[in-house]
Amino acid sequence: MKTCTKCILTENVPGTSINKDGLCNRCIEGNKFRPLGEKKLLNHFRKAKSKNRNYDALVPLSGGKDSTYILYLATKVYNLKVLTYTYDNGFFSELALKNINRAIQKAGVDHHFVKPSQSLLKKVYRKTLIKSGEICGVCGIGIMNSMLKISESYKIPLILLGHSPLENDSFTPENIYDTVRLKYILNESDDLTKEDIRRFLIYPRQNYFTNYYYTKTGRFGKKIDPLFYIENPTDREMGDIIKHEMDWEDIESSGYTKHFDCLAEPFTNFIREHRFGYSRRIVQLSTMVRNNEISREQALEIHKKDNLQNNPANMEFVKKNLNFQNRIFIISLMLNLLLTRTRYQRQMFCSGK
Ligand SMILES: [Zn+2]
Repeated sequence: MKTCTKCILTENVPGTSINKDGLCNRCIEGNKFRPLGEKKLLNHFRKAKSKNRNYDALVPLSGGKDSTYILYLATKVYNLKVLTYTYDNGFFSELALKNINRAIQKAGVDHHFVKPSQSLLKKVYRKTLIKSGEICGVCGIGIMNSMLKISESYKIPLILLGHSPLENDSFTPENIYDTVRLKYILNESDDLTKEDIRRFLIYPRQNYFTNYYYTKTGRFGKKIDPLFYIENPTDREMGDIIKHEMDWEDIESSGYTKHFDCLAEPFTNFIREHRFGYSRRIVQLSTMVRNNEISREQALEIHKKDNLQNNPANMEFVKKNLNFQNRIFIISLMLNLLLTRTRYQRQMFCSGK
């Protein structure tokens, strides 16, 4: 398997090709990010403010770097009236909770904590993990649908998301960020009733069309990614700004590179490494190399420390949380991972069929 000689991308990462000089296509293309323009962003904000609601914008807050930075921008730079909320996915780190509490105090904003039934959430995770090899989509849909519900209840015109152009290409294609697909998987579960599924999904009939329609008509807030409109500081600078402005704290060893807010992240990277031969971390670290935030040697070193071939960090916690002790569960998971070696089979596995 070829690895780029400038960053650490391998040919296993979808959309990557490496030329005869050992350079990957992304290193050859360089950083192509062109912001949409602050003027357009200000236009969104002006329109939202003119509605004169209790809140101009909703900011989902995970306690991680990107969402804390968005809260900083919204309140301290653009003076918006903000409501924040956090979705408890069952894998919150203590530090993330501390960061959330400090950030909402610093920003002086209201905050909602959405805590779905943990026993229901566990069932949904387990079923999805076995059928698709993936749990991030469950959390993604939980976050998204509760975000829509809150924006609907409070009539909040804007939802500000923390997606960053740097991370844009690091989402792996198997994610189930699609309610219809997730519902298909959950419908096959014996220990989930129709009522459970409706309760978890909040909007069980949601699809791309209804989502678009409800957003257009103002029932849901309009989702925008502020980081796509303006020139952004590097990850490191962003971390320094929120440390200073929002009392944000990073874990010692992270060097700004980790999503420490979710304790299950190393596990999900581990699963991806086994299924696809790469994880999101390779893409994230490579982007940082291309942006001169870390050297190639540092990236390799960090990736080696991840040690994704062996048991990932927090594995005991994840096992306990998802009731992994059950041997049948482990055997079916491993069997599915084994069966997804070829690309064709991977696709079958992903579709939940
Ligand atoms: Zn490269």
